[in-house]
Amino acid sequence: MMDGMERKVAVVTGASRGIGAAVAARLARDGYAVLVNYAGNAALAEEVVTAIRWNGGLAEAVQADVADPAAVTALFDRAEQGFGGIDVVVNSAGILMQAPVTDSSDDLFDRQVSTNLKGAFTVLREAGRRVRTGGRIISLSTSVVGLKLETYGVYAATKAAVETLTAILSKELRGRGITVNAVAPGPTATDLFLTGKSPELIDRLARLSPLERLGTPEDIAAAVAFLAGPDGGWINGQVLRANGGMV
Ligand code: NDP
Repeated sequence: MMDGMERKVAVVTGASRGIGAAVAARLARDGYAVLVNYAGNAALAEEVVTAIRWNGGLAEAVQADVADPAAVTALFDRAEQGFGGIDVVVNSAGILMQAPVTDSSDDLFDRQVSTNLKGAFTVLREAGRRVRTGGRIISLSTSVVGLKLETYGVYAATKAAVETLTAILSKELRGRGITVNAVAPGPTATDLFLTGKSPELIDRLARLSPLERLGTPEDIAAAVAFLAGPDGGWINGQVLRANGGMV
């Protein structure tokens, strides 16, 4: 455990799958001890942890619904107790439910606002209170905030709110040497993007980028690692769109 006390520590929400899992693996490779948060998929979170440990890293899986303030407090408590403090927080937990605004149900609205907006708020609030001097706070937004694609209305609205929270928190943390940014991916090959889409639709969306492919979770993890690492230190209060040039 001494080793854990010497390392910088990262909390990654939604790290059992997709972008969060790639971020957890990347930050572990970059030398961070990583708290691998998940909502329900304990087995997948444990696989992420096992892979990190196999490569000589430190990691622990912690269940917490990001929309539950008590659970988020417990997650951060665990990071402080287990690893001695928190230097980087990456808020990747999120859900996507698509429908035209006129067909969007109250349930679609409530669930996305709960996970994507209340979840981001709850994590940002706790991160702003606890991240150590010199730390980094990074949230996942979406390039759809810029592209404004049909059927993404409520989802994009929750992420636009996350971008606003990000910019304002960056100013409120003045004097502590902490940066607060967002990474806004384009279509990225994860469950969230692929589920429910035909191969033709996936191909069409992949070609929105002039690089003519989907992003990979590792592409996005690289952008997050840049903001988390020393080279990203002068970027603050910004949204970094990582989408191959789509928008
Ligand atoms: P995935 O669906 O692949 O993974 C979602 C992750 O979030 C899982 O680890 C899941 O945990 C976790 N999660 C979901 N709800 C909660 C919750 N209430 N509390 C804690 N964890 C939760 O999504 P992606 O990796 O694709 O997305 C990651 C982020 O990137 C999201 O914020 C998304 O909006 C954003 N994004 C994704 C894009 C894409 O094309 N993939 C494009 C733009 C933005 P569990 O496994 O336990 O369910």
